[in-house]
Amino acid sequence: MAFIFCKECGNQISDKAERCPYCGMVMYNIQPPPTYDMMTSDEAKEEKLKKRRLIGLVVFILGFIFSVIIGNVDMGGGELQMVLHGIVEFVSTVFLIISIVSEVKLDKLKREKYK
Ligand SMILES: [Zn+2]
Repeated sequence: MAFIFCKECGNQISDKAERCPYCGMVMYNIQPPPTYDMMTSDEAKEEKLKKRRLIGLVVFILGFIFSVIIGNVDMGGGELQMVLHGIVEFVSTVFLIISIVSEVKLDKLKREKYK
């Protein structure tokens, strides 16, 4: 059972209801809930993946630059520098993986689309 919003009062009601239980509005003229066709959901997925791929890549590059800077700047060479370097490297690696995974998924999505 899906839910729709009453045109009259805005409350969430069952799409099977003949009348809105809140305001009594007759539901005959209400439009059926939008059906997400394959094309639209695929495109939305593609957009999401593209965005994720870009963010992953940007954060990875920034993290890489940052880790090089941390590695080269003399901060006394203390434990803090080591920890900071480790964290930045870890984060940038995670984002690189996110980017690669998005790329692989995008590729798969495209291949399915033009099959
Ligand atoms: Zn209503």
